Amino acid sequence: MNIKHSLVIPCFNEEGNVEIFFSAAKEAMKGYTEDFELIFVNDGSRDKTGEKLRKLFNENKDVKIKVISFSRNFGKEAAMYAGLNASCGEYTTIIDADMQQRPEVAVQMGKILDMNPEYDMVAAFQEKRKDGKILSKIKTSFYSVINKVSDVHFIEDASDFRTMRRNVVQSIIDLTEYHRFSKGIFSWIGYNTCSIPYQVMERESGETKWSVKKLIKYALDGIMAYTDLPLKLPVYFGAGAAIFDVVLLLSLLVADLAFDKICTAGYLACLIIFLFSVLSVFMGIMGTYIGKIHTQVKNRPVYIAKEILTYEENP
Ligand code: UDP
Ligand code: MG
Repeated sequence: MNIKHSLVIPCFNEEGNVEIFFSAAKEAMKGYTEDFELIFVNDGSRDKTGEKLRKLFNENKDVKIKVISFSRNFGKEAAMYAGLNASCGEYTTIIDADMQQRPEVAVQMGKILDMNPEYDMVAAFQEKRKDGKILSKIKTSFYSVINKVSDVHFIEDASDFRTMRRNVVQSIIDLTEYHRFSKGIFSWIGYNTCSIPYQVMERESGETKWSVKKLIKYALDGIMAYTDLPLKLPVYFGAGAAIFDVVLLLSLLVADLAFDKICTAGYLACLIIFLFSVLSVFMGIMGTYIGKIHTQVKNRPVYIAKEILTYEENP
C-alpha cells in the first residue's frame, strides 16, 4: 500500500485531546492527500486514552489508523521510536497529541518537501517561547554549554515536530541506542534540513508531562550521549593540581633555604596533592577509554550515505 504521509503521535494521558486531534488531523490531511496514516502510540497512559484510541480505530475504518499501546510509560523518545518503526509513508511527521502543534503545519511541511527536492527534512521551531523567563534562561544556558562540548550542533528552539523523507526515518531507526535524545539524533544523522517557524498553541486539555525532574534527566541524557568531556575532566583537574603542587614545592624550598625553616606540614601537603594529581590523571585516562567504549556500544553506523552513484548495474 502506498502511503504518502504518516503522522506519528505520541500520547501519554491525552484522553481529552485524542479525539479532537483525530478530527483536526483528518480534516487537514484530507485536503492534502487521501493516502495518509495516523500512528498513535499510547505510551502507557493511565487515563482513558487507550479506550478512546480503540474507539477511534473501530469507528473510523475509512481512515488508516494504527494504535500501538505500550505496557507502561516508556517516555516520549520510546514512543517516537515505535511510531517511526511502524510508519511507512513517503513522508513522516512527528506531532504532539495536545494540539499545541497544528496538523495544518504538518501539511505545510509536506508541501515544502514536495516542492523542494533538495530538502530531506522540514523542522518546525517555536516562533515564541512559551516557557517562563527562568526556564527559558536555563534552556539557553544548557544549549550554549552542550554546543561548546559536543561534536554535533544543537539548535536551541528546534522541536521534535518535523517531517522527514523515508531515508531520514530509516537513518533514525538505524540508531538503536537505548538512551535516546532525539534533538541530538536529528543533528547527528545530518541531511539537509529546512527550518520553519511555528506558533505553539495552548494545550487543548490536560497539562504538560514535563516536570523539573524529567527535564533535568533529559538534559543529563543529552549531555551524556553527546559528550564524554565529564569522563576526561579528571585529567585536567589532575594536571592543574600537579602544577599547583610544583609551585607550592618551589615556594617551600625557597622559604626553607632563605629562612632556614623546614615546614614539614607543607611538604606533607605537597605529597598528598601529588598523590591526588596522579590518581586524578589516571581516572581521566580510564574515563577516556570508557568514553570510547560508550561510543562503541551505541553501535551507530560509521557513516550514513545519502546517495550513491555507481557504474555497477546491481550494486
Ligand atoms: N508524551 C509521551 N510520553 C511521555 C510524555 C509525553 O508520549 O512520557 C507525549 C504527550 O502525550 C504529548 C507529547 O509527548 O503528545 C508532548 O508532551 P507535552 O505536551 O507534555 O510536552 P510539552 O508540549 O509541554 O513540551
Ligand atoms: Mg504539549
